[in-house]
Amino acid sequence: MEENQGNSQIKLLTEDNLRLDGRKLDELRPIKLEVGVLSRADGSAYIEQGKSKILAAVYGPRELHPRHLAQPDEALLQCIYRMATFSVDERKSPAPSRRETELSKVITESLAPAVFLKYFPRASIDVYIQVIQADGGTRCSSITAASLALADAGIPLRDLVAACAAGKIDGKIALDLSDIEDKNGQADLPVAIMPRKKLTTLLQMDGFMTKEEFIEAYELAVKGCQKIYEMQREVLIQKYINIQDEVSEEGSEQNRGG
Ligand code: ADP
Repeated sequence: MEENQGNSQIKLLTEDNLRLDGRKLDELRPIKLEVGVLSRADGSAYIEQGKSKILAAVYGPRELHPRHLAQPDEALLQCIYRMATFSVDERKSPAPSRRETELSKVITESLAPAVFLKYFPRASIDVYIQVIQADGGTRCSSITAASLALADAGIPLRDLVAACAAGKIDGKIALDLSDIEDKNGQADLPVAIMPRKKLTTLLQMDGFMTKEEFIEAYELAVKGCQKIYEMQREVLIQKYINIQDEVSEEGSEQNRGG
């Protein structure tokens, strides 16, 4: 029987196993991370992963409304994933779709194990995720950005959560699928991990893979997550270096002034 090569005839790999955007099979898309991008929120982060662009804003811990949702022994973490109307090729309806509701739940469950929720009984920690431009892998990029925004808000975390998908395109296992690869490939496997704790907090699969392919894809996705984790750490460390520089500059200006 001929192997299922996806829904369309688009060729996703060259003879040298290079992808449409020139990447190798085990290569991530270019990633840009920033923290503290919104001054109104308690914490925030921005991610660009290839052509996907996402903002995450954290409010809390704060009083929970409606109060009957409050949990007596821990905080309630609520992530809300939304796509802007202009984030995809054809205008998306502003009404929350079933997919957005599902992804909000999936993202919340991927981040909750990392947060010391027991430190804030009855409180709410709200994470608003806005996809400004979508080009595949937005649930993973959202988790990466939301975890940074939680850290930026100073919320105590057991570890950062880093996320990345691997999948199958033209019969080969590939890292970090773009939209066209996701739509025309045979499988997508989003993974999120807490690297220091060696815990997997998200594992989903769409499409078909053999057991061997699944293991290969999972291991590749974990390697991708580990690279993203290093970038997350770097951007947070840089934030504190910048604060330190600002504080010492202010101190020396005050000393000069008398
Ligand atoms: P993820 O973004 O996590 O891969 P999906 O697999 O559900 O989630 O979606 C894959 C991609 O499909 C998205 O990243 C986006 O580029 C595209 N997409 C999702 N929803 C829509 C939509 N309503 N209209 C057009 N494209 C969409």
